[in-house]
Amino acid sequence: MHVRDLPVSATVREQYRASGIEELYPPQAAAVEAGVTRGENVVAAIPTASGKTLIAELAMLTADGPALYIVPLRALAREKYESFAALPGVSVGISTGDFDSPAEALGEEDVVVATAEKVDSAIRNGASWVEALACVVVDEVHLLGRARRGPTLEITLATLQRRAPGVQIVALSATVDNPDAIAAWLDAELVESTWRPVSLRRGVYVDGDVDFDDGSTLAVDAPPPGPAGDRDTEVTAALVADTVDDGGQCLAFVRSRREAESLAARLAEEPALRDRYGDSGDADPEGSHDTDPPGPRLAERVRERGGTETGRRLAAAVESGVGFHHAGLASDHRALVESAYRDRTLGVICATPTLAAGVNVPARRVVVRDLERYTGEEMTPLPTLEVHQMCGRAGRPHLDPYGEAILVAADPAAVRERYVDAGPEAIESQLTEREALRTHVLSVVASGFADSKRGVLNLLDATFFAFQSPDVDLSGLVDGVAATLSEMGLLAVGGATNAEGATADTGTLGGALSATDLGATVSRQYVRPETGARLVDAIRTIESMSDENVTPLTALGAVCATPDTRGTYLGNRERAAIYRYATRHAAEFTTAPDEADDFESWLCAVKLARILLEWTQGADREALVDQYRIGPGDLESHVERATWLLGAADALADTLNAETSVFEAAREELDASADADAERRRRP
Ligand code: ADP
Repeated sequence: MHVRDLPVSATVREQYRASGIEELYPPQAAAVEAGVTRGENVVAAIPTASGKTLIAELAMLTADGPALYIVPLRALAREKYESFAALPGVSVGISTGDFDSPAEALGEEDVVVATAEKVDSAIRNGASWVEALACVVVDEVHLLGRARRGPTLEITLATLQRRAPGVQIVALSATVDNPDAIAAWLDAELVESTWRPVSLRRGVYVDGDVDFDDGSTLAVDAPPPGPAGDRDTEVTAALVADTVDDGGQCLAFVRSRREAESLAARLAEEPALRDRYGDSGDADPEGSHDTDPPGPRLAERVRERGGTETGRRLAAAVESGVGFHHAGLASDHRALVESAYRDRTLGVICATPTLAAGVNVPARRVVVRDLERYTGEEMTPLPTLEVHQMCGRAGRPHLDPYGEAILVAADPAAVRERYVDAGPEAIESQLTEREALRTHVLSVVASGFADSKRGVLNLLDATFFAFQSPDVDLSGLVDGVAATLSEMGLLAVGGATNAEGATADTGTLGGALSATDLGATVSRQYVRPETGARLVDAIRTIESMSDENVTPLTALGAVCATPDTRGTYLGNRERAAIYRYATRHAAEFTTAPDEADDFESWLCAVKLARILLEWTQGADREALVDQYRIGPGDLESHVERATWLLGAADALADTLNAETSVFEAAREELDASADADAERRRRP
């Protein structure tokens, strides 16, 4: 099918042509045949780089009204926003920031790009633009199988279909084992294909050679014999150097942040990389840099963006054209690594698996050095789908003749069977995970979607879970969850609604359900019920504390002890120091160690509260990051979460008519430090 035959405006067709799109790729043509431009629901389960964006655009451009594009990650939202905004005559909005604003202005846009959490939050806050939607595109719909994100996504889709009846749903998926189930659930046509614009061969390293699945082999310059870990690193280095020598770019996946940084340091010593990107180098792979080697210039830009230990290690590695990428990296460093790689001033990125699901960074060769991950208790193999996503990054359309993905492992036979020969896993709903169900039952009642157990069950009936497990009795589960929510004072059974909680009659759940004022606030503020309950306890404790003990540390300690706070790590050496700090400030905290469910997480909450307090007191980012051994990216996300949770705590205090303003005050301090930090960083 040719672009000229598409039912979109002539200017859009022209733009497609200008960007090199003439004939539709086969999966795209199949999607058009399946009715994606005629308002039909479509699930497209196709590989990376097979042109999903165009399928989404065709749906959104031909829809009879505004469209919503749901992304799983914020970093992707920005990328998609930019790509849609470049379409002629299309206005685009983006919604990824505050968790709790209805963002009414988005109703003006043709296309809104938002994370699933943001859409869920908009629905809970009664945003009217949701009802006007004509088309919803869900990117990476296979994330339905993830513990936290999955339930949010399926409830959001089920609700959207109710709120905007007749809305077209287009779901884009990686190749998974059961796309037919997803399609049947969404009442959609299935487009399933393994077609790729650039061919991909996958291989496993065995004793000096890579054996590819197409029968070919590649000899690897034999690394010295040594312990398995070192050997895998040396094999990885040889494979990367080989591609870079050849003018290509690589991604190397490892299991942890620390491994990403140490592999980067090792690769930075490779002559192939130093020659091409480093001080002795004189050209980039395409010859577009005339004289200056790109590495040192990029290193300078890394240094300009902050001097933490992580930043210094990054600067040192990029001197040789090697970057690393993980969640602990400061967000501006992460963005710089991504853009430098796209500009080809980096030859390789050493990354944790999150990069595989993230932004667009294709490579000629992908090397997966670590196929297991530490889960806190033991090493477990990575899911097949995840490894396939990494492999799928190999082969850049228009740039590489082919892509190669190579797995390096101690047990090549097992790895071949699991990741090369076998298909990916099936996607399974995670909705009945108790915590997820609690969150969503409260939200459907609080947002006025259901006012009885029957109403809740009706909505749950439209979820992927109900579709996959028609025989499971959701009714019993809902009873249990409603009873717990009622004990927490968030849900009233039988109609009682007051700020003090439900006068619950938990025995007769056939009756009316309504959110208490607290429950409504919890839902609107987008915190988990458990977080809401803990904050309510903290607020009540604060009311009984004497004024001089209620300090910013009190507020920070309370929000850091909720399950919506991301945990932090406590090193052995700092444990005693944090305990001493906690003892010194015991009167300011709302919980004592002996009241905590778990001493270790209590100490972690104290540590986090201390970091945030020192941050508001003007400690600089470098000092905090180095002293508490967290990544600069962690500091950013802790500050952001705490800001959100302090706002939620303040709203709950209002609902309870509590006098305290300590949460609002702490939130203002965090905002002020964020402004001061941005100002410091703007200065040369
Ligand atoms: P993905 O499926 O990973 O989302 P993209 O939609 O980003 O893939 O497409 C990958 C690349 O292929 C983009 O650079 C895009 O411009 C290009 N592309 C998409 N469709 C076509 C086409 N029909 N002809 C030529 N290039 C195309």
